[in-house]
Amino acid sequence: MSNTPYTELLTRAKEAWLLGTVSSILHWDQETQMPPNGAGHRANQQALVARLAHERATDPRIGDLLASCESSRDMADPEGDQATNVREIRRAYSRAIKLPSALVEEMARVSVLAHQAWAEARKSSDFAHFSPWLAKVLKIKQEEAACVGYKDNPYDALLDEYEPDETSANLVKVFESLRAPLVELVGRIASTGRRAPTEILERPAPIAAQQEFGCMAARAIGFDFNAGRMDVSVHPFCTDIGPGDVRITTRYDEKAFGDSLFSVLHESGHAMYEQGFLPEHAGTPLGQAISLGIHESQSRMWENLVGRSRAFWTHYFPTARQFFPSLADVSFDDFYRAINATEPGYIRVDADEATYNLHVLLRFEIEQALLNKDLSIADLPGAWNEKMQKYLGVTPPDDARGCLQDVHWSGGAFGYFATYTLGNLYACQFFDQAKHDIPTLETSFAAGDFAPLLKWLRTNIHQHGRRFSAGRLVKKVTGSALSSAPLLTHLRRKALEVYGV
Ligand code: ZN
Repeated sequence: MSNTPYTELLTRAKEAWLLGTVSSILHWDQETQMPPNGAGHRANQQALVARLAHERATDPRIGDLLASCESSRDMADPEGDQATNVREIRRAYSRAIKLPSALVEEMARVSVLAHQAWAEARKSSDFAHFSPWLAKVLKIKQEEAACVGYKDNPYDALLDEYEPDETSANLVKVFESLRAPLVELVGRIASTGRRAPTEILERPAPIAAQQEFGCMAARAIGFDFNAGRMDVSVHPFCTDIGPGDVRITTRYDEKAFGDSLFSVLHESGHAMYEQGFLPEHAGTPLGQAISLGIHESQSRMWENLVGRSRAFWTHYFPTARQFFPSLADVSFDDFYRAINATEPGYIRVDADEATYNLHVLLRFEIEQALLNKDLSIADLPGAWNEKMQKYLGVTPPDDARGCLQDVHWSGGAFGYFATYTLGNLYACQFFDQAKHDIPTLETSFAAGDFAPLLKWLRTNIHQHGRRFSAGRLVKKVTGSALSSAPLLTHLRRKALEVYGV
């Protein structure tokens, strides 16, 4: 191929991506293999790779090439290959060059110290220890929003990094339509006084058996172990090293086999999205994820809509009883109710399918208030606890189990939380469409066959990479804009099954 501005642009984009994947493998190694004393050297390696990647991504030559490409007639179809790649490389480039390097460096420096202060503050439940650092992070993020630019709300400038083209105005509308019905549903479940027998899930389950069962389930739903692997880490994650190499991790607790299994299904969902990109687009936007919300829709679909379904366990419950003899006297119905329990708690990462979204909505609202200076940092713990009581009917006994529980803000990840609920919303909306398109979908799950769903996801979502924005994709695939209705219908059906309300 002759060296046109477009081919040169792609070559450069791929180099920046290659450096990013070097960083990914260093990170994977750090979380799964590296001895503790290697941390200092690893930090230096990562800093160098990050600097090289940033230099490449902001090279003025990229700006020249983009300008040449944008005036070419190969851009006629806005959703064609070239137009997609140019548009998305432009998006990343414009954002990167708007940020002064002094601000980027300041954020990198502050986030290391803020993270440390946050970890200490959480340990001793001492908000005052973290609040000066949170103030610094918030100020940097406000400056970042000002540099990037926004129409109505600084939140939009930060959200755009994770959820391109999404706006807080749209999220407020969709989340508001979710909040009241969800608060009502969770309250209605609590008022029955009925409990699902969740103690079943704490029965001893040998780790070797959990490992084998998890691998079996991951393979069955479609995680390709020839193009990936599964290891152990403190916090489960998925990382895309590159074509043919997508890795997931989990952790094991003998008294919580569900934690590991559902995290395996979750991370497999992320990984199968990455494994579904077309190899010819590797390293370009057409071979990359649209947004965190769409990524999360893939993990939540396999974790919750498949992994907690009657059909899935119709196939797997007999096997689970063989793997875990402590389940021998448990009925299918009790097991199903246990894995689908709704129990308000303080901690987001431990939350069930229904209450989880209320944890997210609370953070979304607080972030907006902080960024818009409607809430002072000193008032944050009080605002947090008030919302917890209002939405979930519980008040955290201390800030460690309240506003200090999440790592995100210490690292500057404002605008991130919303993508978790977006993932749940997209997952339900896509899944309803998949069931409509493939009426035998759940019958095939009950027979242990998950290939029809994966094929549907590959065709409708994975293969497109970033060709469509998230909003455009959901409209194209399901015929409607993002809506809270499918998730609410799903959660109400579960409440009826598990609690009879
Ligand atoms: Zn996830």
